[in-house]
Amino acid sequence: MPVPIYVIGSSNTDLVVKTERLPKPGETVLGGTFLMNPGGKGANQAVTAARLGSHVTFVAKVGSDIFGKQAMQQFQRENIGTTFITTDTEHPSGVALIGVDASGQNNIIVAPGANSHLDIRIVEQALERVEGAAIVLLQLEIPIHIVEFAIERCAAKGLTVILNPAPVQALHEQVLRHLHIITPNEFEAGMLTGIEVVDVTTAEQAAQKLQALGVANVVITLGAKGAYLRSGTKGKLIAAPPVTAVDTTAAGDCFNGALAVALSEGVALEEAVTFACKAASISVTRMGAQSSIPYRKEVNEISL
Ligand code: ATP
Repeated sequence: MPVPIYVIGSSNTDLVVKTERLPKPGETVLGGTFLMNPGGKGANQAVTAARLGSHVTFVAKVGSDIFGKQAMQQFQRENIGTTFITTDTEHPSGVALIGVDASGQNNIIVAPGANSHLDIRIVEQALERVEGAAIVLLQLEIPIHIVEFAIERCAAKGLTVILNPAPVQALHEQVLRHLHIITPNEFEAGMLTGIEVVDVTTAEQAAQKLQALGVANVVITLGAKGAYLRSGTKGKLIAAPPVTAVDTTAAGDCFNGALAVALSEGVALEEAVTFACKAASISVTRMGAQSSIPYRKEVNEISL
């Protein structure tokens, strides 16, 4: 039986503009298509896990505005458990302003709003309700003290924690010791370790450093190259299926949600990273955040 997945994190509405090239500071460029999509790292990861077939509970806070109402409707449509999503009457829903250039690269500014006011008691209640095993997936778009609290609670209950350290922030070593997996991208791995990650050699060095800080397993996502997995004393590059990228928004989120799904099904780590690379490679071929996330059948159809 697959174990349930709890995602504790952010919900945002993404306001996306496609543009030939991203503006420099102080510059205005005329963009093209405008899209308004549900997003937020937590919500994207929850939607990924649900579309790939897991039983998902999302712990989050939205505003009492139209963005928050639409987000709740979206979670319900996706069969995500919403018992622990609360509504903030004082602060607006989180919003992300996203520019995407012709090569699929993006620039993102997030106004966290209600996400900054996620109630620690709701997190506590959600984790109290977990019986037996579960995978808990966290990111850093909610207050860091809540992330640290959740990780400590999970450790006390023996739950498996995956931390996607994005957007990157300094983390206590005590917290790192409780993680089953940390999943930085190249930039985040560099910020956490002081080692600039540009290739497999530097990914191995950064992964070793994160292990030395106490994390059991390290998965560094490397964009089109795939992901570098270090588990125990072994490191390995897992290649991404070659695709033509049109928008990499939420590629990392899709990767993390898919990784959690594979692990919830009892799959070994290397196979789980391969599954996550497959799912994320589909997401980069489509525009948007949640709109780009694939369903299980599509991932199963990819052969490497
Ligand atoms: P983003 O912030 O754009 O959501 P990220 O920087 O967190 O992404 P990346 O390392 O860019 O994360 O990508 C995550 C995963 O998505 C990669 O490990 C890979 O599996 C897949 N991926 C990303 N870009 C491509 C690509 N061009 N072709 C195939 N797969 C890709």
